[in-house]
Amino acid sequence: MTRYDVTKHELAEMMPGEPAYRSEQVWRGLHLGLSAPEELTVLPLTLRGRLGADARLAPGFELEEEAESSKGRTLRWLLRSTSDGVLVETVVMKYRDRSTVCVSSQAGCAMACSFCATGQMGFRRHLRAGEITEQVVLAARACRDRGWGRLSNVVVMGMGEPLANYANVAEAIKRCNGELAIAARAFTLSTVGIVPGISRLAREPLQVNLAVSLHAARDELRSSIVPINRRYPLAQVMRACEDYAAKTQRRVSFEWALIAGVNDGRADSLELARLLRPLAGLAHVNLIPLNPTPRYLVAGSSRRVVGRFRDELLDRGVNVTVRDTRGQDVGGACGQLAGGAQAASIRRRV
Ligand code: SAH
Repeated sequence: MTRYDVTKHELAEMMPGEPAYRSEQVWRGLHLGLSAPEELTVLPLTLRGRLGADARLAPGFELEEEAESSKGRTLRWLLRSTSDGVLVETVVMKYRDRSTVCVSSQAGCAMACSFCATGQMGFRRHLRAGEITEQVVLAARACRDRGWGRLSNVVVMGMGEPLANYANVAEAIKRCNGELAIAARAFTLSTVGIVPGISRLAREPLQVNLAVSLHAARDELRSSIVPINRRYPLAQVMRACEDYAAKTQRRVSFEWALIAGVNDGRADSLELARLLRPLAGLAHVNLIPLNPTPRYLVAGSSRRVVGRFRDELLDRGVNVTVRDTRGQDVGGACGQLAGGAQAASIRRRV
């Protein structure tokens, strides 16, 4: 248990003999104030010292490495767990009208998507709700310190498969929504397509945006790059998405990493448009050229091909956006920093 795993009730119990307003001050300081206990100058010095030394309120992560893009609009952190040393990545992005954090939901990932650096590294463990929340707090603090305005958006798109760690992810979203005052609609959860998880999310009162990593619109191809497709094939994934859109009246996004010669042909865009037809205006496609990773040495599609693919979708009435590849200048695709650090420590060991 670390700082943001503690509940309000547990926090009050950690401060016996103190008036109730004190634990309220600490709670607000940790969340709205984005502060560590030892920084809470509203508290008497002895209490501040006592809370600062309490292991249950220790930070869950220490900063292992920080990379900042040349234009200074993207911050990428490699964080090391203070409890067991696992590594996770968090990315903070400043846009003209908003600031977004991309958080990890697991250390590593068990989904083994062939092109993904995190997938290539394998699964370490689930992150606790407090560890997911702490990434958001750190990002909100960085935004405040850098004058980037208020952290407005949270995307659960970092390392790991969030719907395989459902309870912790849902709890973290609720905590950030309730205590950090980030609007529920400002959260986006990206999944590889865990069908029961999508159905469960559709029944939650949370109004998060759902993004599904599709990458292929026919089972044979999708199973070869996204192995979980064998367990949850496209027809089931799409039915769950249609149900999600119907229940929540929210748009569903579909991620498509364009891989040269693999999923960027005319037949692929046709298949995709056909697959999305039942969702009509409630589907939105995000195209992103693949970021090459160490164990999947296939290139991302060229700009020309990305443009052609986009136009083919537009011609068929599909909503589509080409995403910029933020982060390439600060260590590449998600999982690459952690993967790199892991490789380095393996090299050091031998
Ligand atoms: N497991 C979740 C969230 C983490 S991955 C999911 O699959 O959605 C976040 C997004 O990055 C996914 O769309 C994933 O397919 C994509 N991605 C992973 N590796 C990539 C790479 N090398 N290039 C481009 N996109 C990548």
